[in-house]
Amino acid sequence: MRRSTFPPPPPRAPEGVQENVLLAPRTTLCVGGPAAHFLEARDETKVLEALAWARKQGIDVAFLGGGSNVLVADRGFDGLVLRVAIGGINHAMEGDRVTLSAGAGVSWDALVAMAVEHGWAGLECLSGIPGDVGAAPIQNIGAYGQEAGDTITFVYCIDRRSGATVGIDRAGCRFGYRDSIFKRRGRGRFVVVGVTFSLQRNGPATVRYPELERFLRSEGAGASPSLAEVRQAVLELRRRKSMLLESGDENARSAGSFFVNPTLDEEEWARARARIEAAGVLGGGESIPQFPASGGRVKVPAAWLIERAGFHKGSGEGTVGLSTKHALAIVNRGGATAEDILRFARRLRDGVLARFGVRLVPEPVFLGFQPHEIEDLVGH
Ligand SMILES: Cc1cc2nc3c(=O)[nH]c(=O)nc-3n(C[C@H](O)[C@H](O)[C@H](O)COP(=O)(O)OP(=O)(O)OC[C@H]3O[C@@H](n4cnc5c(N)ncnc54)[C@H](O)[C@@H]3O)c2cc1C
Repeated sequence: MRRSTFPPPPPRAPEGVQENVLLAPRTTLCVGGPAAHFLEARDETKVLEALAWARKQGIDVAFLGGGSNVLVADRGFDGLVLRVAIGGINHAMEGDRVTLSAGAGVSWDALVAMAVEHGWAGLECLSGIPGDVGAAPIQNIGAYGQEAGDTITFVYCIDRRSGATVGIDRAGCRFGYRDSIFKRRGRGRFVVVGVTFSLQRNGPATVRYPELERFLRSEGAGASPSLAEVRQAVLELRRRKSMLLESGDENARSAGSFFVNPTLDEEEWARARARIEAAGVLGGGESIPQFPASGGRVKVPAAWLIERAGFHKGSGEGTVGLSTKHALAIVNRGGATAEDILRFARRLRDGVLARFGVRLVPEPVFLGFQPHEIEDLVGH
């Protein structure tokens, strides 16, 4: 007969699981309470082990990369926060294409720097975006005329439904503006373990974003700037807006852009245009900044709407304010709580809505909140 105890002991936590780990220092906004359990998983086996343990324990799991696009609730997260820290970069050449693969835990900017150094085109405009490779496909990161989804060929994930590792191709990722399947139907289902990109060997740099083009011209770059020149230009433009994470920067505690740029259909755009024109916020001869978006929609810069609604760079309330260099970044000036951030975000959202009839939607992911606490912001 086998000796047993009743009730059976709870499953042993995988090695490395820590209890009650503060999340604030693991996010760039530096707010939020603790994770009940926290694990840094350096390989797929560890991720699987952690998922199995959490399932047996009946606890929720959330995934964290560099914490540069999350707002953690003041109460923290009453489950397991899994930091997918799988490393490794490799590449293969075929003709003028380079297939570049990186583990989810590789620093995004380190990967971009490496590609630029080797003369592999396709990621250069995405220089300086904080965070890890594994988060890049989640919101299809983008800047200065490129998006990660332009060059991603496969996103390798653990499918939590089957426990199998699957490769999701670009079409399957359903990339859109700050959007992908991982934010929609696949939300919470897929754990990204690695990403593969197809880059062009000795390819030309992408210079299609007017601000980048103007800056390169003002710096005396030739008609075909190198990948390195474009990377340096993007880094400098980002630095000027405090969109680079640099220690000592008073605007550093942020999640970058707090709202996505609204993309309006024809009717919404006509209504917004009428409201903006009637509000008398346009200078003589000034037109509303706008960019074409997919599906015939019009993208209006959220930063412009925020400023014209009367919220100026550097303005704010005590512990929370707008970046002094960018009207789209909400900054924790020191000692802010998640509630403070949300209150300020709602003030901006309501101000823009009341003035121009355009509803701003946050970009960061909310972690540890009850749905009813944030549904007015995220809309689901
Ligand atoms: C100063 C600053 C500038 C920024 N500029 C830009 C910009 O120009 N363009 C842009 O698009 N974004 C920008 N961002 C936002 C942010 O850097 C990106 O969204 C980045 O991809 C987030 O990476 P992360 O590793 O920090 O992810 P986290 O913030 O840790 O996580 C973000 C989301 O991804 C999920 N996630 C992370 N890793 C995994 C994984 N392995 N598997 C499954 N889900 C995962 C998390 O659960 C969460 O939902 C900026 C942020 C800051 C602070």
